[in-house]
Amino acid sequence: MTGKARRFPLLLSSVVDAAPKSAQTRSVSAPRIATPQTATQNAAQTGVKASAQNAPPMASPSKSHTNAVARSQFVPAATVPESERSNPLVSDAVRRAMVARVAKQGVTDAKVLAALEAVPRHLFIDPGLSSQAYIDSALPIGHHQTISQPYIVARMIEVMRHNALGGKLDKVLEIGTGCGYQAAVLSLVAKEVYSIERIKPLHELAKNKLRPLRIANIRLHYGDGMLGLPQVAPFDGIILAAAGLEVPPALLEQLAIGGRLVAPVGGRQQVLQLIERVGKLEWKSATLEACHFVPLRAGTV
Ligand code: SAH
Repeated sequence: MTGKARRFPLLLSSVVDAAPKSAQTRSVSAPRIATPQTATQNAAQTGVKASAQNAPPMASPSKSHTNAVARSQFVPAATVPESERSNPLVSDAVRRAMVARVAKQGVTDAKVLAALEAVPRHLFIDPGLSSQAYIDSALPIGHHQTISQPYIVARMIEVMRHNALGGKLDKVLEIGTGCGYQAAVLSLVAKEVYSIERIKPLHELAKNKLRPLRIANIRLHYGDGMLGLPQVAPFDGIILAAAGLEVPPALLEQLAIGGRLVAPVGGRQQVLQLIERVGKLEWKSATLEACHFVPLRAGTV
């Protein structure tokens, strides 16, 4: 197989530490996107509900996109040392079982499921929690933050992939690197992954977690993700791993036309929101399902 850029371990060169030039971010005046009023309980079953009045309904994220390209690029990650693979708590079989559960919950995109199967989630969390690495649950990573639940990671990426660009994902942006797990999953479905974290020790943690995996197409940035990365934009996809009361306007501006942004929105009650940029000055929005994320916060610490 030739999927060089898709194989773990990969070249390290790109796990870089460059602060975004956020101070230079131009102010944007993207139209406010209405916050969804209701959440569907299981978007995996119901598909996406378009909420914009004058926009055609968005393609359902389910079924339609079963990846001709998926298998051809994907190379299963022989990332886990033999010694760990023989540990029944973190074995390939346990990870496969987790992926099967995620699929059962409605994620159908084979490329996303393959990516989930390839990334050794247990390497991203504290070794003391290894035995829980493949339960479908968020887990603490320190600094009051969590590694996201595998289902929601897969779901967001699946929804983002089903864009009006025929699934093209040249550049994607993740807000909230945390320990780097979702960035690793994204690296298997996108050409270039940019990920921003606002908490310095977590940014460092992600670098340390990703370094041994030698993933060539991830760029880590320390900064306020609410400002995005204007110097790299536009992005074919943007994923927020933390929930704000609204989607930061700068991120809407940095979405390519035809691209999709997926973000949790809300406070105590949150919903997953899908925003598609349909024109230079036009975005349409849909509410997917209820979710629970750590809060999106401005500034850096
Ligand atoms: N993507 C992670 C999830 C990390 S939790 C995973 O793979 O599991 C969400 C992260 O978002 C936290 O680390 C939090 O510090 C970060 N975050 C919150 N607000 C942010 C902001 N404005 N910019 C960048 N990161 C932010």
